[in-house]
Amino acid sequence: MSKNNIDKKIILGEEFIPKQWYNIQADLPKSLPGHYNTRESRLATVDDFSMLFSKAAATQEFSKERFIDIPQEVREIYKIWRTTPLVRATGLEKALGVKSKIYFKNESVSPSGSHKSNSAVAQAFYNKSEGITRITSETGAGQWGSALSMACKEFDLECMVYMVKISFMQKPYRKSLMEVFGAKVVASPSELTKTGREILAKTPDTTGSLGDAIAEAIEDTLTHKNSKYSLGSVLNHVLMHQTVIGLEAKKQMEAVDAYPDIVIGCLGGGSNFAGVAFPFLMDKLQKSTPLRAIAVEPSACPKLTKGEYTYDFGDSTGLTPALKMHTLGHNFTPQGIHAGGLRYHGASPLVSLLVDEKVVEARAVAQKEVFEAALLFARSEGILPAPESAHAIKVAMEEALKAERDGTPKTILFNLSGHGHFDLSAYDNYLKGNISDCDYSQEEVNRNLKSLPKINT
Ligand SMILES: *Cc1c(COP(=O)(O)O)cnc(C)c1O
Repeated sequence: MSKNNIDKKIILGEEFIPKQWYNIQADLPKSLPGHYNTRESRLATVDDFSMLFSKAAATQEFSKERFIDIPQEVREIYKIWRTTPLVRATGLEKALGVKSKIYFKNESVSPSGSHKSNSAVAQAFYNKSEGITRITSETGAGQWGSALSMACKEFDLECMVYMVKISFMQKPYRKSLMEVFGAKVVASPSELTKTGREILAKTPDTTGSLGDAIAEAIEDTLTHKNSKYSLGSVLNHVLMHQTVIGLEAKKQMEAVDAYPDIVIGCLGGGSNFAGVAFPFLMDKLQKSTPLRAIAVEPSACPKLTKGEYTYDFGDSTGLTPALKMHTLGHNFTPQGIHAGGLRYHGASPLVSLLVDEKVVEARAVAQKEVFEAALLFARSEGILPAPESAHAIKVAMEEALKAERDGTPKTILFNLSGHGHFDLSAYDNYLKGNISDCDYSQEEVNRNLKSLPKINT
């Protein structure tokens, strides 16, 4: 057994890379409301999904099998960066003056700099094995696009990425990284699709949204031969691919006789939160293990804390099946906050159900306090976090400080979903005092929710 169990950093040998993903659909407290095909007014099927996605991903989307084998080809590529380190944040504990133990799982060490590679490699592999030659997708902040570009290169697939315009402008080097891996990247809305041209005609100055970019990518997929679409979050199969994070973390904590009281992840669509939390929530759902899981969102995009739990589309034009989820409405165009990966209007149906069932807690935090937390973390742990991940850091700090006030130290685990090396202009703005909060009010939420599709299942 090659393991290094010094207190600070726990790395397990590659034989500890999980051989199976964990599918939480086997253990839900109640059954997941089905995805809905609005054009034909019926529940969506595997066949509906395999028009867009690989057959394997479409099948996984509906599977209730508890564990699903990770193909050996995928595990071989995981070996480039997995297992990822589990780190005891002793520097942060000291800076806060707390007796709680804070651990983080460092997913920033992947080739894309974020957890997104875990699903990208799986999706590229399945498409390749089904004879697909081209994958189209969208990217918000650029992490998903980077992950997919690298994964497509591994399997010799073409990659076409629609990148939300504000990120295209804020993070030009993400585009460069995708091009290094051979992808084609355009700013969305673009002139390449009918959807993009229509949006530009109506709102020429739009900074774009993930919903718009998804709509463009889907149109592109449906109008190209041997092309499939791929999504970096939200859907059940994507969340399942990410469970390698929590499965590894469990073994690493076991190696030092630790188990978390609280597991924390930031939430955009829900995939890294699910990745770190679901394998622990399995214990809670099966054996009532006491465990708190907290999903953290920006107060500028508060779907879990202010949105409605109802059916909505995944994209702005209603091309995707409707999903039952916490949503701000598919027309929601978020403020240009710097945590681009958290600007999506909805939350994954799996996380939404668990929040609705009170198995998972949700919390919203404001942008300024998030950057403050990011700086403290960078200065005490030596790692520059992605602004997205800093949402989880902020709440890990809050919980450790609260435990200290209560006199009950806790074991806290959060996921460091990515690094902030492509976000230095945001850090620069913060250091110059140019970062403000932009909360989204309940009135604005309610106004936007008028656009929801009407669905009776
Ligand atoms: C994409 C991204 C997120 C948000 O997406 P989830 O699917 O909610 O995980 C968070 N952090 C980083 C670094 C990301 O790239």
